[in-house]
Amino acid sequence: MTVWVLGDQLDPSAAPLQSDDRVLMIEAHGFGDRLPYHPQKLALVFSAMRHFRDDLRERGSEVTYVEAETFGEGLDRYFDAAPGDDLVVMDPPSHGAGERLRELVAARGGSLTLVENDLFLTTPADFDDWAGDADTYRQEHWYRHARRETGVLMDGDDPAGGEWNYDDHNRETPPEGWTPPEAPRFEPDETTREVIEFVRERYPDAWGSPEPFVWPVTREAARQALSHFVEVRLPEFGPYQDAMVDGEWALCHSLLSAAINLGLLHPREAVEAVEEAYEAGDAPINSAEGFVRQVLGWREFVRHVYRRSMPELAAANQLDQTESLPEAYWTAETDMRCLSEAVGHVRDRGYAHHIERLMVLSNFALVYGVDPAELDRWFHLGFVDAYHWVTTPNVVAMGSFATDVLSSKPYASSGNYVNEMSDYCSSCPYAVSKTTGENACPFNALYWDFLKENEERLRGTGRMGLMYSHVDRKDDEEWDAIRARADEIRRMGRAGTL
Ligand code: FAD
Repeated sequence: MTVWVLGDQLDPSAAPLQSDDRVLMIEAHGFGDRLPYHPQKLALVFSAMRHFRDDLRERGSEVTYVEAETFGEGLDRYFDAAPGDDLVVMDPPSHGAGERLRELVAARGGSLTLVENDLFLTTPADFDDWAGDADTYRQEHWYRHARRETGVLMDGDDPAGGEWNYDDHNRETPPEGWTPPEAPRFEPDETTREVIEFVRERYPDAWGSPEPFVWPVTREAARQALSHFVEVRLPEFGPYQDAMVDGEWALCHSLLSAAINLGLLHPREAVEAVEEAYEAGDAPINSAEGFVRQVLGWREFVRHVYRRSMPELAAANQLDQTESLPEAYWTAETDMRCLSEAVGHVRDRGYAHHIERLMVLSNFALVYGVDPAELDRWFHLGFVDAYHWVTTPNVVAMGSFATDVLSSKPYASSGNYVNEMSDYCSSCPYAVSKTTGENACPFNALYWDFLKENEERLRGTGRMGLMYSHVDRKDDEEWDAIRARADEIRRMGRAGTL
């Protein structure tokens, strides 16, 4: 028996690795040709795999490490040397991946056993028991269930601090002059530098900047990143979780998603470290609960919703949106301060924090009318933490409201939201106070146009009543001006002059 370790399963404590079995790893470069993936994403995965291989060998494991174009080619070479071998692998969370691997192995005369993927906090059986035969899901209900089941941040039968959710205490904006603690940098070692060079040459069409590369590529570095977050950033993570500050790419976010999604850090370790800090009095409840809600609540939730909603989820488009992404998503060149900052962060680091992703990047694409599948591809290729199972539910369901599988209303807003939660608007040439006419903030006309265009679908949905009471107060003249401005913005978006 040989344990096949995939590139996003780099956890030495994973169940299949607790045997004396040999290990197979295949670094398949052709994956990186499917989309113009961010070079930091490619470098991160390949470097983390090579470090993991070295680490396993140091611990005494026999590791076969194959560099190939495809899994098929890698398996050909492997089975030439080990004909008829039996492999075991943890079931990958992306749709249909396990079955595809099984077929590849069977076609080469071997066998592949898929075992449960234990890199999550909850199992498919846990979620399926809770969800029954439902086909729409609400995160808050799941989250409370998961807190009760795991006992995380619980005080007997009650939530720690008395409330389940401190969302209301996650919405402060920092005072003027505030700067976040510096984000940790994990300088590339020789292996990572070699990989970065390889990626530069092998993928000339990759979108984004290969450097500065600061991501942890080993378990040890990921543990340091977690400690740094808990000790230095967690206290202010809670209050400023929804904030955006000009010139600041990380604020107090944990920057742990890439490491967690690769398996370098188990989500349990992250949740436990945060819970301990709260119990020791080193972190306020709105920080601890805010973080736990993201990991135990959202991350587990989207994984299961994806699992139960594919393949329809990836193709969903209930609002029939068909626009292509505005040019600015590729160039970061736009006068819109919020958009140029957020796209710039993605291009430079393969990262933007949650509020930039939700309330700038996907919100703008939503009200502009972008095809959800195209937006999904952009997120998938641009982010260091992107994998189909996590990107697709976040982009298609949460960000694009292409299905109501996980929310009953769209995350759509005008420029007011960005203005409330950031300091971008004060240095933006567009006027957030204006909806139409020259220099009016593009978010505004697009937002009202979006509500009007999708009235039939959205008016009836529970929580849109207030917004439609504003829609009802606008007269025909106002709607003509809004439509004209929205059309103009879309023209500018296509021409790259936004
Ligand atoms: P923090 O803000 O510090 O949050 C802590 C952790 O919670 C994260 O590391 C992550 O593991 C988890 N988390 C928080 N929210 C989510 C969520 N909605 N889904 C899954 N995990 C969550 N996350 C990805 O890992 N990969 C993606 O490709 C991805 N694409 C996204 C696209 C859109 C449109 C949106 C709205 C969200 C997306 N997210 C994605 C979720 C979330 O934005 C990122 O996990 C988070 O910004 C990562 O930064 P961080 O580690 O600093 O997170």
